[in-house]
Amino acid sequence: MEALQPRAALHYPRSAGEFQSWFGSDADCLDYLDWLRWPRGFVCPRCGHAGGWVVGDGRYKCVACSARTSVTAGTLFDRRRTPLTVWFTACWLFAAQKDGVSAQSLQRALEIGSYPTAWAMLQRLRSVLVRPGRDRLSGIVEVDETYIGGEEPGLRGGRAKGKKALVGVAVEVKEPRGYGRCRMAILTDASASSLHPFVTAHVEPGARVITDGWQGYRGLDKLGYTHEPRSQRAARARGDDLGELLPAVHRVASLAKRWLLGTHQGSVEEAHLQSYLNEFVFRFNRRKSRSRGMVFYRVLELAVAHAPVRYRDLVVNPQPKQTPPTPPGRRGHPPSMDRPRAVRPWRTTRPVG
Ligand SMILES: [Zn+2]
Repeated sequence: MEALQPRAALHYPRSAGEFQSWFGSDADCLDYLDWLRWPRGFVCPRCGHAGGWVVGDGRYKCVACSARTSVTAGTLFDRRRTPLTVWFTACWLFAAQKDGVSAQSLQRALEIGSYPTAWAMLQRLRSVLVRPGRDRLSGIVEVDETYIGGEEPGLRGGRAKGKKALVGVAVEVKEPRGYGRCRMAILTDASASSLHPFVTAHVEPGARVITDGWQGYRGLDKLGYTHEPRSQRAARARGDDLGELLPAVHRVASLAKRWLLGTHQGSVEEAHLQSYLNEFVFRFNRRKSRSRGMVFYRVLELAVAHAPVRYRDLVVNPQPKQTPPTPPGRRGHPPSMDRPRAVRPWRTTRPVG
């Protein structure tokens, strides 16, 4: 199936105003999800047959097996009590702002009562961001580990285990300059039995893998990589800045730390750190996206392809903080706009019977 090349103003809104005028009601949102889920028309998730019609309760009825399916059934939005318009606004704020949105800001913007509700919405959105079977990094890739979270400086280097989480970082390096995509994952420790699986999970065999001289990286050349260890001792002898030994991973790690401290006020619990890292990676890898509306489209596309997420799966610690960390945030809903509706590609795809 060829991938759709989504176009601004046709497949996704270009601006907040356009977003407002497209998605004024739950029915508008449902139409859009319908089109995203079945761009070529309804396909029965039970028997795989293509073709059905919309029955009285708004669900599709399969022409082959008569099973009834709602547009949101089996997606991230399955059986959610939150109106779709609220979900879409959350998605828009999540996607349209370069650094995303904190649960507290979302709670204020949506004027929803509880912080845990806002937090759970964002956590659900985060859970769809890692697409199964996504491509691994390739070309030239820097790999290193760093400690993230907590308040213990100076652990890097000693590789001692503290309260901070040890995080593997891999970044594509472009020639002559610039960075490509990145990946980040929490590691058990800095041993070869943790680092080797991190590399094989995130880097395509055949890549040139650049690391420091740490022994945990030894043996990567036997796993199909061209391993290029850079010695700290040699760098020190040359008088080079050690931070410049692996500039790409250090850049990405410091951006991630700044983002956690900035957008999320550093309030991320260790149990949820991986999902925040996934969000950071998603944003970093789309940093050059010309349109934030396109990011909105991608998030919803992943959400309709993702199975429902139960609350107990969402929270490792089933009691998220009842109170938000600290101010400040955005206020209020933007005023709704009554604009004439343009023709959307999905408006004609939903058969009625
Ligand atoms: Zn069927």
